Amino acid sequence: MKQLLLHLFLIFTIFQSTAQVMHPSLDYYLPDDVTYDPEIPKPQEILGYVPGEWHVSHDALVGYMRTMAAASDRITIENRGTTYEGRPLLLLTITSPENHANLAQIKEEHHALTESGGANMDTETMPIVTYQGMSIHGNEPSGSNAGLLAVYYLAAAQGAKIDAMLQDVVILFDPSFNPDGLQRFSYWANTNKNQNLTTDPQDREYSEVWPGGRTNHYWFDLNRDWLPAELPESQVRIKTFHEWYPNILTDHHEMGSNSSFFFQPGIQSRTHPLTPKLNQELTAEIGKYHAAAFDKIGSFYYTEEDYDDFYYGKGSTFPDINGSVGILFEQASSRGHVQETDNGLLTFPFTIRNQFTAFLSTITAAQGMRKKMLDYQRDFYVNSRNEAGKDAYIFGSKNDPARAAHLAKLLQRHKIAVYKPSENYTTKDLSFDTESSYVVPKTQKHSRLLRGMFEKRTTFEDSLFYDISAWSFPLAFNLDFSDSAPASIAGTKIDSVALQTPLSLSRSEYAYILPWGNYYAPKALNAILNKGIRAKVALQPFSVGGIDYDYGSVMIPVQNQSLNAADLQAFLDDVAKASHLNIDPVKTGLTEGIDLGSRKFEALKPQKIALLVGDGIRSYDAGEIWHLLDTRFDISITKLDTRNFNRTDLSQYTTIIMPTSGWGGGLGESAGTKIAAWVRNGGTLIGFKNAARWIKRQGLVDFREVETENPAKEVTFEQRSDFNGAQVIGGAIFSAKLDRSHPIAYGYDNAAISLFRDTTLFIEADETSYKNPILYTEEPLAAGYISPINYEAIKGTRPFVHQSSGRGEVLIFTDNTNFRAFWYGTSKLLMNGIFFSNQM
Ligand SMILES: [Zn+2]
Repeated sequence: MKQLLLHLFLIFTIFQSTAQVMHPSLDYYLPDDVTYDPEIPKPQEILGYVPGEWHVSHDALVGYMRTMAAASDRITIENRGTTYEGRPLLLLTITSPENHANLAQIKEEHHALTESGGANMDTETMPIVTYQGMSIHGNEPSGSNAGLLAVYYLAAAQGAKIDAMLQDVVILFDPSFNPDGLQRFSYWANTNKNQNLTTDPQDREYSEVWPGGRTNHYWFDLNRDWLPAELPESQVRIKTFHEWYPNILTDHHEMGSNSSFFFQPGIQSRTHPLTPKLNQELTAEIGKYHAAAFDKIGSFYYTEEDYDDFYYGKGSTFPDINGSVGILFEQASSRGHVQETDNGLLTFPFTIRNQFTAFLSTITAAQGMRKKMLDYQRDFYVNSRNEAGKDAYIFGSKNDPARAAHLAKLLQRHKIAVYKPSENYTTKDLSFDTESSYVVPKTQKHSRLLRGMFEKRTTFEDSLFYDISAWSFPLAFNLDFSDSAPASIAGTKIDSVALQTPLSLSRSEYAYILPWGNYYAPKALNAILNKGIRAKVALQPFSVGGIDYDYGSVMIPVQNQSLNAADLQAFLDDVAKASHLNIDPVKTGLTEGIDLGSRKFEALKPQKIALLVGDGIRSYDAGEIWHLLDTRFDISITKLDTRNFNRTDLSQYTTIIMPTSGWGGGLGESAGTKIAAWVRNGGTLIGFKNAARWIKRQGLVDFREVETENPAKEVTFEQRSDFNGAQVIGGAIFSAKLDRSHPIAYGYDNAAISLFRDTTLFIEADETSYKNPILYTEEPLAAGYISPINYEAIKGTRPFVHQSSGRGEVLIFTDNTNFRAFWYGTSKLLMNGIFFSNQM
C-alpha cells in the first residue's frame, strides 16, 4: 500500500510538472508579494504564449521589448547596432520615471565617480547601475526567455518596494547578447518539439545539428571576445560599458543537464592576480542574495567549485579589471522543453524561473550593497591611477602600419588613451618612428586593464584554466614593443585611429611593386589576380628607385595585361585604397639584386579556396578562417560540408583548408582517397592541428611526433582530474624563429615570431634544416602556462610542415594562426600558404 501511494504520488508530481511544461502560467514565475499593473501587456498577449511554452525567437523577443518600452514610463529602448545577420543589438534602460527624467545627469555623476576628481565624491544618494545580459550562448536559452519575465516584472510590478528599487538602481538590460545564435537555436528547439513532450534526452530536439546555436554568425564564442572586442556584438557591449561603468554585470548561461544552478564566486585559486581581493569578497556577498532567493523557491545551487575569473575576455571576468563585479550564472540546461535528468524531470519553465530569480536577486543585491559597490568602484580607479607606472608602452611596425593601427583601435574601444610619439625613439635593439608607432602612457584611468592586456605572465598559482592562460596583445599582433619608454615622448593624442589612406598612385609604363609586409597585402593580391592581372612574387630581396623590397614583394608588369596602362593605374589605385596600403610605380627593371625580368620572380595564380566545415570539424576553428578570409581579405570561399564531401567535385579548387577536428575531420577513408588524388593532381591542402594526423594517415605527409610520458606519481584519486587537466595546453604563447627566405615567412621583417598554441601535437624538427622554416626556440614559452613535461617536449620542435606530394603541396600548422580574430600577427602565415605554396 505504501509502495502504491508512493507510486501515485510520483505519477502525480510528474503529471503536475508536465502540465506545467505544456501550459506554464505566469503565476508560476512571478513573485506574489506585489500587484501587477493590468495596463502592461503580458508576454502571452504579444507572443501568443506564456514564456516557457515555446522558445522565443529573437524577432519575437525584439517585438515584446519594443512593446514594453512603449507601454512603460520606466523603460526606454535603443538599438546600438546590428549583428552580422542584420539583427538589432538592443539595450533597455529600466529605472524610475524620476530617474529617467534626470538620466543624463545620473550618468554624468556616475561617470565622474571613475574619473580623477571622483576620489572625493559622496556616494550616499547616488543610484547604482547594473548591466544584465542574457544568453550570450544562443543555445543556452533560459536567459533570454527569462528576459521576457524580467522586463514584464520591472514594468508591471506595483508598490513601495518596487518604487524604491527603481529609484536606487539603474538597470541596463540586454535581452540577447547573441541574437543570431538565439534565432538559430529557437528554430531548432521549436521545429523539433513534440505535441506530447518527449523527455528522452536522445530525442532529436535535444541534439542540434552542426554548428549549433552557441556561437554568432561566424561561429565565434562571443563570451571570449569582451577583451579583444573584434566582433560587432562585443563592440556595442563595450561601448555601453564605458558609457555607464555599471557596478554589477551579470552573464546568464546554461551548463550540463544533470547539474543544478551555479553562481559565482568560482574557484578562488584561479582568480587573475590583477583582480583586487575585495572584488571576490563582494562577489561572495552578492552570492548571499542569490542563495536566499533560491532557498525561498526551493531550487538547488552551488558556488566556488567550478569556473574561474582568469581570462578577462569573458563577460563575468571583464568587469573585474574595470572596477565592476562580474557574475556568472550557469543553469542546468533543458536544451529543449523537458528532459529526464539525475535530478528528475528538468523543465524549460524551471530553468527560466531560476534565471529570472537570479536576475531579481542581483537587483536586490545591488540595492542592498549600493553604497559599498559605488565606493569600491571609486576606490578601484583611484588605486588604478596611483599604482600605475610613470613610463609608457610604445609599439609599432614599420613595414605594416595596419597591424599596429588595429591594436591602437582595440585600445581605443576600451577608452585607453593613445598618442603619436613626439620623436623617433630607439631602445637597445628596437627603433620606433613617429609614423608607424603609438605611445600609451601607463598613468591613465585604465592602467590595470592595460597591464592585463600587455603583460607576459608565465607563473601561476594554479595550473588549471577554464580558458586560455595568455593573450598578451603585443605578441598576438607581432609588434615591436617596449614597456619602458619615457612618458615624455607621448606627442599628440589620437582621437580616432584610422587605417592608412594611401597617396594617389602615379602612372608607370613599366611595373608596380606591392610590398608584402602590410597586413592587407593578401586582400590586394587577391583582387589583382581575380581581375585577371598578371603578377609575380620576388623570391629574393631587391632595391629599385631607392626603396628596398623584401622577400615576397609582388611585381605587376604593365605590358601584356588585359588592361591598358591607364586602366591598370586606375584599377591598382582603387585596390591600394581599399586595402589601406601603398603600391609603388617603378620605371626600370634594372635593380640592385634580382632584376624585374629575373626568373626569381615567379608567376602567381588566382586562388579558388574551399574550407571544410560540418560534422567532425571544430566550428570555432573553421569560423575563424571563414571570418578572416571573408571579412578581412574579401576573399570569397566555398564552404564544403563534410556531409556531402563524397559527392563534391574538387577539380575547381586550388586550395582546400582543413580545420582541426575531434575525430579525423569527419571524413571517411574514401574521402581520404579522393583528397589524396586531388593533391597529387596539383592541389594545395592546408591542415590545422589535429587534421595533421588524418592527413598523415592518408599518406600525404610524413612527420614524427615527440611522445610524452607522464606517469601519475603520488596523485590521489581525488586529484586525478586536476593532474590530467594540467597536461592540457589550454592556450599559451610560444616563440619561434623564422627562416625569412622561405615563402611561408614572406612579409615578416623580423626572424622572431610568437605563435598561439592549444594542442600538445609536437612535431620533431626535420634533419634537413631548410625544411624547418619555423622552429620553436630552446626556451619558447613567451606567455601562459605549460606543464614541465610538455615544455621539455616542445623545445626545438616545428609548428609547420611542408611536403610536396605528386604535383601538389601539403601544409600543416600545429598551432592556431587565426585565433579568435585577434591574432593579427600570424594571419600572414596562412595567407602565404594560400598564395605561395607553389614557391615552397
Ligand atoms: Zn554559456
